[in-house]
Amino acid sequence: MMEPLLTISDLSVTFATERGRVQALDGVSLELAAGETLAIVGESGSGKSVTALSILGLLGDAGQVKGGSIEFQGEDLTRVSAARLREIRGNQIAFIFQEPMSSLNPVLTIGTQVAEPIWLHHKKSWPEAFAEAGELLAKVAIPDAAQRLEDYPHQFSGGMRQRVMIAMALACQPKLIIADEPTTALDVTVQAQILSLLKNLTKELGSSLILITHDLGVVARYADKVAVMYGGRVVETASALDLYKNPRHPYTKGLMDSIPKLDGDPGSRLHTIEGQPPDLSDLPSGCAFHPRCPYAHEACTASKPPLTAIATNHQRACFGYE
Ligand code: SF4
Repeated sequence: MMEPLLTISDLSVTFATERGRVQALDGVSLELAAGETLAIVGESGSGKSVTALSILGLLGDAGQVKGGSIEFQGEDLTRVSAARLREIRGNQIAFIFQEPMSSLNPVLTIGTQVAEPIWLHHKKSWPEAFAEAGELLAKVAIPDAAQRLEDYPHQFSGGMRQRVMIAMALACQPKLIIADEPTTALDVTVQAQILSLLKNLTKELGSSLILITHDLGVVARYADKVAVMYGGRVVETASALDLYKNPRHPYTKGLMDSIPKLDGDPGSRLHTIEGQPPDLSDLPSGCAFHPRCPYAHEACTASKPPLTAIATNHQRACFGYE
């Protein structure tokens, strides 16, 4: 079996809030092989973005890793120094944010911003780094790339800015790219173009990709495997094909049923999951999904269901309902 690039084991993270410490992640375990694409899916507060920020060591002063480990190429990222983490973030793990405008500097040209990480981390001369920036912009399909190096972020459309972010993420040829809701602000056609581009370029580079999203439907075509999160825990994980064909956790089933289908009855109502996502500062007892689960039974309120294998490469955290 291939050596995993990233192994998250039993990760627990808490955050200090006005209402005391909340458990943002509770025993999260995930694995990612080199070249693989993992989609982490969940509603807000499910823990998907906190998982990404934990990998990057960007939990801020309020966040704290309480237990578990994040092994990346043999190093536990929860134990390395801040300087080492910065080095890893610059060279081996890249991050693409949801809103490129908040990550791009409005007063620097696009060329300067794409060339800087190449110049800084690959010790190239500035003209070499600038030329490479032009090649990268062409690679992410920005028309007239060489001419656009001198333009500023406000002269690019939302989709083109996200392409620039992808170019910046690829600049250091990272082993892992984490994209947090990279297409949420874009229309459906541009969404598909950006995700295809991201998937193809990471594949070409041999990098792994983690796609964080609230939209199970969007990632269907791009992920090799999917982890569904709820209330700070992974509730189901499987290969994308298996999960889409045969979801086995009631929450995943609910998410699947709420995706519009081309062959659905015209005029039929879309399914919704009753109730609200859980409040992390006041999680329900036992299975956090039990207040919304149509199959909840007595055992579900008494203890948390562990993530258990139910088929090859398919795990779920549920006491069962079939
Ligand atoms: Fe529903 Fe119980 Fe399974 Fe939770 S453990 S998803 S409440 S059946």
